[in-house]
Amino acid sequence: MSAAQTSTHNFKVVLLGEGCVGKTSILLRYIEDKFNDKHLTTLQATFLNKKLNINGKRINLSIWDTAGQERFHALGPIYYRNSNGAILVYDITDEESFVKVKNWVKELRKMLGTNIILVIAGNKVDLEHERTVPLEEAESYAEKVGAKHFHTSAKLNQGVEELFLELTQEMVVKSEENTQTDNTRNSRVLVVDDEPPAQSSCCFTNRSA
Ligand code: GDP
Ligand code: MG
Repeated sequence: MSAAQTSTHNFKVVLLGEGCVGKTSILLRYIEDKFNDKHLTTLQATFLNKKLNINGKRINLSIWDTAGQERFHALGPIYYRNSNGAILVYDITDEESFVKVKNWVKELRKMLGTNIILVIAGNKVDLEHERTVPLEEAESYAEKVGAKHFHTSAKLNQGVEELFLELTQEMVVKSEENTQTDNTRNSRVLVVDDEPPAQSSCCFTNRSA
């Protein structure tokens, strides 16, 4: 078996976007298949893990959610550093939240270049009748910046699984490209793991506390 088949991919994924767009809801829908109508202030975890197996490849996702720091404009590079992927969430009924996504794309591309895979989620599509972010504009923007765009509803469980699957597959491709480049550079390097395991230490204090 080759190293690529036996290794486990460990990926860090961050959720980014304005407060109340549904980041925590998307994560809880994906991990626990639950939805809550209340604003989820209780989840203060730094990240949740998800194990996947795609085409025989073992993948561990550490998906980082905020503890609400975005409301104080207090999310900096320490949150997204070493990320393999980012999910940029906006609320389709809130134009401001789409502007915020554009700002995040700029910042991430500036700081991490194309090493990070970006996907954009237009969330709350169950509220289509209240949409204020034009669908075509969002899709063409995403295409322009090299990010896949998904229409999601954490509430109705639409698009969530697809979004994580696409992101994961793109991260695997990117990681194997990088491994290949490394092997070409130095044929004696045997790659077993692409990344050290995500740190388990807690980096956050809740500023509102
Ligand atoms: P966060 O601040 O981005 O983490 O947002 P939350 O996950 O806490 O959600 C904020 C509010 O939006 C809560 O009241 C959720 O119930 C609601 N919400 C989240 N996702 C959806 C969705 O897909 N549809 C609808 N209608 N409401 C949602
Ligand atoms: Mg949240």
